[in-house]
Amino acid sequence: MKPSDTGFSKENFELLIDGKLPWEEVKKAIRLSPKDADRFEKYIEILQEKMPWEDRILLRISDHLYIVAKPGGERGVTGGDRGVTEGDRVVKCDCGQEFGDYRINWKLSCRVYVRATDEAIAEVITIPEARHNTDLVEMREFYCPGCYALLGVEVVPPGYPPIFEMFPDLDSFYREWLGSPLQDEHPDWFQERTSEKPAAWIKEA
Ligand SMILES: [Zn+2]
Repeated sequence: MKPSDTGFSKENFELLIDGKLPWEEVKKAIRLSPKDADRFEKYIEILQEKMPWEDRILLRISDHLYIVAKPGGERGVTGGDRGVTEGDRVVKCDCGQEFGDYRINWKLSCRVYVRATDEAIAEVITIPEARHNTDLVEMREFYCPGCYALLGVEVVPPGYPPIFEMFPDLDSFYREWLGSPLQDEHPDWFQERTSEKPAAWIKEA
């Protein structure tokens, strides 16, 4: 294991993540040269300590959501032609709610509230001039089924597929940027599979 850099302390890192680091200190961190080589590992370590669950965090993708490696996957290589179990990189809320395979848009596993009328929009956008035209678009709010945290908002035409906000190439990130490839790396991990979920719903119906 490489030695930990100390240009930016763990205490400051915790404050930064919580949004409580004074701006002067934030500027110092931005200007730090060279930056700590292990800053991503430190960042993940702090996030991991905050979570009520043990699954390894691979990447944080929003305020509440993380891509995690499930036991039996990245850390415990088992059978199968790829050497791992399918679906062992999943999206998980800080509350513990899981949204399934990270290659499928997590929004398809949310509770959704649609604001399609002027009255409904007026509840959240108080300035009339700032409201969008409800003849053209609707506002969708995506909530975690476990803790009801608001996870995302989008304004799109009715019928438009939920926007997949972030689909990271985890293997390239770990191999090429962090220099620490994931054990279960495979080209399949960077193949989006969102369309499979509605296809499965149709079969169930
Ligand atoms: Zn939640």
